[in-house]
Amino acid sequence: MDERSPDTLKTYRDKRKFDITPEPAAGGVPNEQARAFVIQKHWATRLHYDFRLELEGTMKSWAVPKGPSYDPADKRMAMHVEDHPLSYNSFEGTIPPGNYGAGKVIIWDKGVWIPLEDPHKGYRDGKQDPWLLIKEKDDFVRPSTEFSVVDEMPDSVKKLPDRPAATAPRGARAPAPSAPAANGPPQGARKAPLPAHLQPQLATLVDELPKDPDNWIYEIKFDGYRMLARAERGKIALFTRNGNDWTHKLPQLAEA
Ligand code: MN
Repeated sequence: MDERSPDTLKTYRDKRKFDITPEPAAGGVPNEQARAFVIQKHWATRLHYDFRLELEGTMKSWAVPKGPSYDPADKRMAMHVEDHPLSYNSFEGTIPPGNYGAGKVIIWDKGVWIPLEDPHKGYRDGKQDPWLLIKEKDDFVRPSTEFSVVDEMPDSVKKLPDRPAATAPRGARAPAPSAPAANGPPQGARKAPLPAHLQPQLATLVDELPKDPDNWIYEIKFDGYRMLARAERGKIALFTRNGNDWTHKLPQLAEA
């Protein structure tokens, strides 16, 4: 058991027989700089979605019968349930009949979550059940009449890359599986001056898809300019891929 969170997993353990269920009894590595979230789709007595947020060394957990929605008008009931170990984030499998939560579990979504306010206070202030899972108003909003994420995206995401390192910016590529500690530079890195020029990676035209489907994903290519942002001693400069300084053309971007 994680000594930073004494006893918060007792209820979890008491409900399960670990010689029968494939679920983990304990384990997992906390990362308060980049807290994990996972949503597991769980075909128990009734289908529901288990929404879990890393906080204080465990996964705070809610069972959401209807699952998430992209529509802020939807208020999805979320029943607070027992804390789960961090290692539960990678669990997929079938809990055998006769056991607590018997049925199939898949990892339906996963990643890193960023609290808007103090998450410790928010968690304690929200104690009374049921909680509500509500979509924030942002660029990803879609009306429920047009899009139902649980219907359109029913499958496991277990094979997609894991959360990025703690120091990586949002949207950054996940580290290679052999990457060392989440904080600091990779092993064998040496201090060196910032190179005068850097060449952005470019797409390469090929005739066929890579052979191994597990080793590639696609992303939509938006048209526009490929820019390199250079941050050196507090000074920001923006360069085109041919090395032209465009900082003066994009003052708002440089400021941001
Ligand atoms: Mn469940």
